[in-house]
Amino acid sequence: MHCICNLYRYDKIKGLPEAFETPGVCSNYSPLYVEKTTKAIKEFKAGGDAVFTLPNSPIKCAGAPQKILYIAEETFRLQGKPANMVYYTALPVIFGVKKYADALWKVVKERGINVNLRHDLIEVKPDTREAIFLNLDTQEKVVQHYDLLHVTPYMNAAPVVRDCKELSNSEGYLEIDKFTLQHVRYPNVFGLGDCTNLPTSKTAAAVAGQFGVLRKNLGAVLDGKPMKGVYDGYTSCPLVTGKNSCILAEFDFSAPPKPLETFPVNQAKERSSMYLMKAHAMPFLYWQGMLRGFWEGPAIFRKAMRLGMSK
Ligand SMILES: Cc1cc2nc3c(=O)[nH]c(=O)nc-3n(C[C@H](O)[C@H](O)[C@H](O)COP(=O)(O)OP(=O)(O)OC[C@H]3O[C@@H](n4cnc5c(N)ncnc54)[C@H](O)[C@@H]3O)c2cc1C
Repeated sequence: MHCICNLYRYDKIKGLPEAFETPGVCSNYSPLYVEKTTKAIKEFKAGGDAVFTLPNSPIKCAGAPQKILYIAEETFRLQGKPANMVYYTALPVIFGVKKYADALWKVVKERGINVNLRHDLIEVKPDTREAIFLNLDTQEKVVQHYDLLHVTPYMNAAPVVRDCKELSNSEGYLEIDKFTLQHVRYPNVFGLGDCTNLPTSKTAAAVAGQFGVLRKNLGAVLDGKPMKGVYDGYTSCPLVTGKNSCILAEFDFSAPPKPLETFPVNQAKERSSMYLMKAHAMPFLYWQGMLRGFWEGPAIFRKAMRLGMSK
């Protein structure tokens, strides 16, 4: 029940499946326990420890573990409940793109959130309400008391792809060319989305960008013509930092990744306009545009807003 297609590996964290049945332990990644998040935030008592995690594996929407951290912190602050806010991430950085990482460090410092880099949740002890983390650099164990624990689980490649050795790479992801989206061994196979080895952040926004390239290239191959579509790694993460603020991170898959922003403003700034877009425009784009095959990402708007001076 805890795993959808064995994709979300709650079972890899000792004691977590049992801990989910106790108050205060939740995960927005689980259809079973997502509703516990709101309850845990509502029932949180002043002076408690609120702990949020990001695991040591590629995950869907790398910003989601932080969004809930900021929403919870704002809620407690507005309710006048002091809280010890702690974020543990297995990553060596707070975010993979420096421009947005700098902005997020400012947010966490201003709000007094404690950030622990390179720490991975390995065990939960619901009886004592303790979360055990492994320091990935020193291999030491760190014990953290929690009153609220929001867990982002390890994530696997989709088993249906992983188990097909001809199509997948050694990590289990569909092995496609990162520019054309054509399979590296089978020219009649194309791929997009979270099941692929594309070296970009796994988001629906990335899927939209990939869709335009795939449509062009698959069509060209079917017509016996050369492929002209080139994926630039576009992905986006609306980093909601509160009930009316959002940093709209948009970036590519350069090494290191570079911002690829749609709007001619500094998108690393927390803005209510970006929050309104995330809350109201994006669901419309998703349901009416993307799922119907009309939305291929914002590249066309980015180019228009920069008077054709951008990719
Ligand atoms: C909590 C959370 C927050 C997120 N926030 C954002 C955000 O703000 N912005 C954003 O752009 N993205 C966000 N994402 C990421 C986004 O949801 C994914 O990147 C996107 O859904 C990927 O689409 P996909 O079709 O590639 O994969 P999926 O959405 O995972 O779809 C794969 C489908 O295949 C099905 N499947 C698997 N195996 C089989 C099989 N053997 N037979 C049949 N069907 C099968 C699965 O059940 C699933 O329905 C978020 C994700 C999560 C979990």
